[in-house]
Amino acid sequence: MIQDNPTAMAQCFVRNLRKELQLDDLLDIMKAEFSEIGSNKCKAEIDIYKSFTAFLEQCAFDETSPLNLENVLMFITGTEVIPPLGFHKEISVKFLHSCAPDCMCLPTVATCALDLNLPIHYKNEEVFSTIMTNSIQMCQGYGN
Ligand SMILES: [Zn+2]
Repeated sequence: MIQDNPTAMAQCFVRNLRKELQLDDLLDIMKAEFSEIGSNKCKAEIDIYKSFTAFLEQCAFDETSPLNLENVLMFITGTEVIPPLGFHKEISVKFLHSCAPDCMCLPTVATCALDLNLPIHYKNEEVFSTIMTNSIQMCQGYGN
């Protein structure tokens, strides 16, 4: 599991202050579908997944983040809370390799299937975070 140590203290801190969706709870219900270990595809996927988890940490712990984890969960699943008995399946984090060079496409979701599709062409964590934030905010705009 990736999520163990660096965020533990911050989580205690947040948990005492606010009763919100916790990063661990969100990561627990996600499953990344990595390609064969050691392949170039897999390396690219791990980079993007790291950017994704960094983005989630930012949403969870950065007071200046425009989004919180509820916004992310809403974007992926259409609901702000994890149901008491859980979703009908894990959230599948899938990686898209089929984009053209210089593609600018956004992450997409299938809320019923609980799929999050992440193109692998975002250059770094900052780019990923900006794109993910924009995607979620655009979605919120349409939602209400
Ligand atoms: Zn693309």
